[in-house]
Amino acid sequence: MPTYVFFNVSAYGHVNPTLPIVTALCKRGHTVYYFIGESFADTVQQAGAIPVIFSEMPRSQHATPPGDKEIALLPLLMARESPRVVPEIVDKLKSIRPDRIIFNTMLLAPRLAARILQIPAIGFRPFHSPRRPSKDVELNADPWVKQLADAANQAIKAITTSYSLPDLTLREVFAAVPGLTLVFLPKSFQVDAAQFDERFLFVGPSFTAPPPIPWPVAENSESPAARVYISLGTLRNNDPDFYRMCFAAFPAPDWSVVMSVGNQIDLQALEPIPGNFVVRRSVPQTAILPHTDIFVTHGGLNSTMESLYYGVPLVVLPSIKEQVTTAERVRDLHLGLIPDRANLTAATLREAATTVLQSESIRQAVYHMKDTIHSAGGYLRATDAIIAFQGEVHPNSTL
Ligand code: UDP
Repeated sequence: MPTYVFFNVSAYGHVNPTLPIVTALCKRGHTVYYFIGESFADTVQQAGAIPVIFSEMPRSQHATPPGDKEIALLPLLMARESPRVVPEIVDKLKSIRPDRIIFNTMLLAPRLAARILQIPAIGFRPFHSPRRPSKDVELNADPWVKQLADAANQAIKAITTSYSLPDLTLREVFAAVPGLTLVFLPKSFQVDAAQFDERFLFVGPSFTAPPPIPWPVAENSESPAARVYISLGTLRNNDPDFYRMCFAAFPAPDWSVVMSVGNQIDLQALEPIPGNFVVRRSVPQTAILPHTDIFVTHGGLNSTMESLYYGVPLVVLPSIKEQVTTAERVRDLHLGLIPDRANLTAATLREAATTVLQSESIRQAVYHMKDTIHSAGGYLRATDAIIAFQGEVHPNSTL
C-alpha cells in the first residue's frame, strides 16, 4: 500500500480540510505521515496520520497571525530558511520513502524536496486567491525587503547547487504547477477561475458533516427569533469591541445568537452577556450551522464554504486580502453582503443582516450554490483523486 506525506502550516483553516482526507486514506489501508507544527500533532494523529514536527515559518511568524504584508513576504522568508529546512526534510523523507507528497501550495520546502528526491507531488489550496498574483511583492522599495530578497535568492541558489538541481529562481519554483492540485471550493466560486486548468480539481469544502446539535440558546417559542451565528475564525478574533457591538446589533426578542470568540479574548471583558446570546471560545461550527439563519463571518474560506454547504447566507467582515477576495465573491454571486467594517455600527450591522435575511434573491442564489457545493465531491473525491494520481515527477512549469 502506498505511503503519503502531507506538508501543512499550523492553522485550523489550513489543517481542517485535510483531516477527513487523511482519515479516508488511512481507512483504505494507506500510511500517512503529516509534517506539521507541534500544536497540531495530536490533531493529525487523531485523524490517523503519523505526525512529524515541522515548521517552515521563521519563529517570529508564529507570534501574531500574519497581516497582508507578512503574507506577501512569506515566500522570501521561507526561501531564506530553506538551507536549514530542506536538508532536514530531505533526510526524513529518505527514511520514510513516500510514494507521494501532498503539500499546501503556499509552502516552499516540500516543492524543493519533491524535486530533489524525484517524488511525485500533489498540491492543495486551503485558501482563496488568484493563481497568479497580479503583481510581485509590491514591497521592493523597502531596503529591508530588498536585503531579504537577496538573501532568499542566495539561499535558493545554494540549495539548487548543493542538490544539483537546474538553476531555478524562487519565482520559478512557486510557478510550477503539480499534475494535481486539490482546491477546497467549487470552481464557480473561484475568483479568476479561467486561470485554473484541468490540473486543478475543485472538490468543494472538505469536511465530514457531524450530527447536528440543538441550537444552544433558550428561545421563546411564541416569538421565533432569527438565529445568528457569529465568528471571526480562529486567528484574528481578539476583538471585544466588535463582540460588544454585536450585543447591541442583535437584541432580544428578535434575534437569537451563538457567538464563537476564540482563545485569546478576556471573556470577562464581554460581561454582561445578554440572555439571547451564547458566547463560547469555540463551538462545533458545522453542527451549529444547520440551525443558523445567517452567519456573520470574517470570510475565512472554510467558514464561508461550510456556511454555503448548509445553505446559510452571509454577512462578511473581512480583514486580510484573501478574506476580501472571498467576501467580494460572496457579494458578486449574491450570497450575502459586505458592510463597511471600518465604519461598522450596531445599526449598520443589523441592517445588513436584516437585508440578507429578507432577500428572496439571496436565498435563491444560496440554494443554488448549496447544490453546486454538494455535487463538488468534497473529501471523498479528493481522496479518490489522490489514490488515482499517477503523477509526473517534474511538475509542469507554467511561467
Ligand atoms: N471553527 C470551529 N469552531 C469555531 C470557530 C471555527 O470549528 O468556534 C472551524 C471552522 O469550522 C473552520 C475553521 O475553524 O473549519 C476556520 O477556518 P477558516 O478558513 O474559516 O478561518 P481561519 O480561522 O483560518 O481564519
